[in-house]
Amino acid sequence: MTAKADDGMYPMSELPRLNLKEKGIELTAEQLFNPHQISLVDGICRVNGCTGSFVSPNGLIITNHHCAFDAIQKASTAANDLLTHGFIAANREQEIPAPDYQVRITENYRDVSAEVLSAVRDNMSFLERTKAIDKRRKELELAAEKEHPGLRAEVAEMFAGKTYVLFQYTFLKDVRLVFAPPIAVGNFGGEVDNWEWPRHTGDFSFMRAYTAPDGSSATYSKDNVPYKPKRFIQVAPEGVDENDAVFLLGYPGRTARHKTAGFLDYEQNIRLPMTVELYQWQIHEMEKAGATDRSVAIKHASRSKSLANVEKRSRGQLQGLRRAKIVATRMLKEAELQAYIDSDPLRKSRFGTLLKDIESVYQEMSAAGALEIHLLQLRQACRAASFGYFVFDASVERAKSDLDREPPYMDRNFAQSTQEIKVAMSDWHRETDEIMLAGMLERLSKIPASHEIEPLKVLFSEAKSMESVAKDMLQKTQLGDPAFVEACLKKSPDELRNTEDRLFSLIVNLHPFYLKLRDTEKAREGRLGQLYGSLVEVKQQFLATSFIPDANATLRFTCGRVRAYSPADAVVRTPISTLKGVIEKTTGVEPFITPEAVLKKYEAGEFGRFLHPRLGQVPVAILYDTDTTGGNSGSPVLNKNGHLVGVNFDRCFEATINDFAWNQDYSRSIGVDIRYVLWITGTVYGADHLLSEMGL
Ligand code: ASP
Repeated sequence: MTAKADDGMYPMSELPRLNLKEKGIELTAEQLFNPHQISLVDGICRVNGCTGSFVSPNGLIITNHHCAFDAIQKASTAANDLLTHGFIAANREQEIPAPDYQVRITENYRDVSAEVLSAVRDNMSFLERTKAIDKRRKELELAAEKEHPGLRAEVAEMFAGKTYVLFQYTFLKDVRLVFAPPIAVGNFGGEVDNWEWPRHTGDFSFMRAYTAPDGSSATYSKDNVPYKPKRFIQVAPEGVDENDAVFLLGYPGRTARHKTAGFLDYEQNIRLPMTVELYQWQIHEMEKAGATDRSVAIKHASRSKSLANVEKRSRGQLQGLRRAKIVATRMLKEAELQAYIDSDPLRKSRFGTLLKDIESVYQEMSAAGALEIHLLQLRQACRAASFGYFVFDASVERAKSDLDREPPYMDRNFAQSTQEIKVAMSDWHRETDEIMLAGMLERLSKIPASHEIEPLKVLFSEAKSMESVAKDMLQKTQLGDPAFVEACLKKSPDELRNTEDRLFSLIVNLHPFYLKLRDTEKAREGRLGQLYGSLVEVKQQFLATSFIPDANATLRFTCGRVRAYSPADAVVRTPISTLKGVIEKTTGVEPFITPEAVLKKYEAGEFGRFLHPRLGQVPVAILYDTDTTGGNSGSPVLNKNGHLVGVNFDRCFEATINDFAWNQDYSRSIGVDIRYVLWITGTVYGADHLLSEMGL
C-alpha cells in the first residue's frame, strides 16, 4: 500500500500529529526530533542558504556541489582551477577554509508569539508596528543568547502577524571544503538540464565544520578541531528503489501558499517577468566578459550560476502560473471565503473588507513595482554600488543603538557581514561593472517615476549617454579596493558624504530614497501582517482545519515516495536515472562533458557494489514526490530508517510552481543517488579515506 504524499513542509511541532507509520517511515516523531535527547535532527545542519548532513563523528558534511560552489569558486584561479578539475583534500591540513560559510544546527524552539505581539499597540502606524515587532524579536534573541551563551537565537515569523517561534542554534563559523567533483560531474547538464528531469548531475560535495579546541564556536584558526556532532547520519550504500518511502529534513527558504490571488498577480505580471529580463541580461554580459579570459569567468561563475538558477526557476513559475490557472483558482476560493464572511453580520463587521484591504496593498506594490525593483537591482547588478551602499548604510546604522540597527549591522552580526563583503570584493571586475551600471541607469531612465528621484534626474539630464556616465564613474571609483572600503567603514556618515568618488557619491545621494523604500516595505509588512493574521483566523473557521506555515528557512520535515510522473499527455518519466544516461548525453561540448576518469571506470565496468540490482547500472539521480523548495538543496534524502540514500538538489520544471502551490501530479523533487556519490568519490576519484570516515 502506498500512502498519499503530502503537501507539507512540517515544522517539528507538527511531527507528533503525523502518522509516520502510514507514510512508510519506521521512526517515531521523537526519534526524528527530541530537544531533550539525541535525535536525527542533531545530524542535520543548515549550510548558508542550503542544508547539509553530518556523515561522520568528525564534522564531515555532505551537501550539494551548488551549495559549496561559492567556496570552490573563491578558491579557484585560472592556474589552479578547482571548478574544472575538482578538489580532494588528502588530509585535514589540505582542507580549504570557506570564510563566508556558516553552519547551524537546530537545538530547540519555543513559541514566543505572545511576547512578540505584546509590543504592538492599537494606535501604532503600520511602520511603527513592524519596527516594534522587529525590535521585540531582537530583544528576545539577545536575551536568549545571554541566557545560553554559545547558542545563536533567532525569532522566525511562522504565520504573518500571528505566530512567532524562537529557535536556538549551535552556530559554527569555521567551515572548510573537503571534496568537490569536477564541475563536469557536479553541474553536468548545466542550465540546459537545471530544473529538469531526467537528470544526470552529481550535485554533491563534502565540507567539514570546525570548532575551537574546547568545542566552542570560533572563526577559522589552524588550531581548531573538527566539530563533534551529537550524532551523525548513517549512509546506506544500498540506496532506494521505485516506490520506497523517503523523507527529508531541511531548511526550505520561502513559499507563498497562504498569500492571496493579488500577490500571485503581482508575481505573474510584475516581479517574475522583470526578474527574467534583468537576470538574462546580466548572465549574458557576464558570459561575454568571461568568454576569452578564464580568470574573469571564474570571478563571475558563482554569481552567474545563481542568477541563472533563479532566472530559469522564474520562467518555470511563470509558465506554471499561466498553465495551472493558479491565480484564477485562488480567486475562486477567495470568493467563497468572502461569501462565508458576508453570511454572518458579526463576521462581516470584523472581516468584511479584509480581502479588499489585502488586495489594495498588492495594487500599490504593482504600481510601484518597476521603480522599486530596478532601484534595488541597481545596487545588486553593479557590485561596486553594493559595496558603497553597505559602507554608507553601515555608517548610518552603526551610529544608532544596537537594537535599533538593521540586523546586518548589529554587533552580533557585523563582523560576519563585513567578512562577506570582503569575500565578495575578491570577485570584483571593473569592466563588467561598467556595463551593469550603464544598463541599470539606462533601464531606470525609461521609468518615468525615476525622473522624480533627484540624483538620478541630474544624471539623466546630462548630455552624455549612460554608458559614458557609467564608464566615468567606474574608471575612477575606489569602491572595488578593499583598503578603501576598510577605511570608509571607520568613518561617520558626514565624513563619507564629502566623498569625491562619483559612484560613491551617487549611492550616498540615493541613500535617502533607499531608506524611504525600506520604510515603505516595512509599512506594507506591518499592514499585511495585521491583515494576514485575521485572514488565517477566518480561513481556519471557514475550512475548519489548521494549516502549516509557509517555509521560512526554519527546520522542516517532508515525506513521500520515489515515484514516476507525467509532465505531459502520453509522457511518463521513470524515477531513477543511471550512468548509462550520462554516457548517452555526453557530447564533449559544454555542458555535456564527462571527465576522462569517469569514462575510464565506466568502460572498465568498475562499478563495485554500487549497481542498481534491477537496472544493472549505477543509479545517478532519483525523483520523489516530497514537498521542497530552495533551501532544501543539500537536504538528506533518508530511507524509512533514517539512513542517507541521496542528497536533494532540485525539482522538475513543473514543480518550480511548488512555491505557490504543491500538487501530487507534478510536484517532484530530485536528489543525487548515494550510490553515484560513493562511486564518484571512491571508485573514480580515489577518496576512499572519506568512505572509511563514513564507516563504509
Ligand atoms: N535547485 C534548487 C535551488 O537551487 C533547489 C530547489 O529549489 O528545489 O534552489
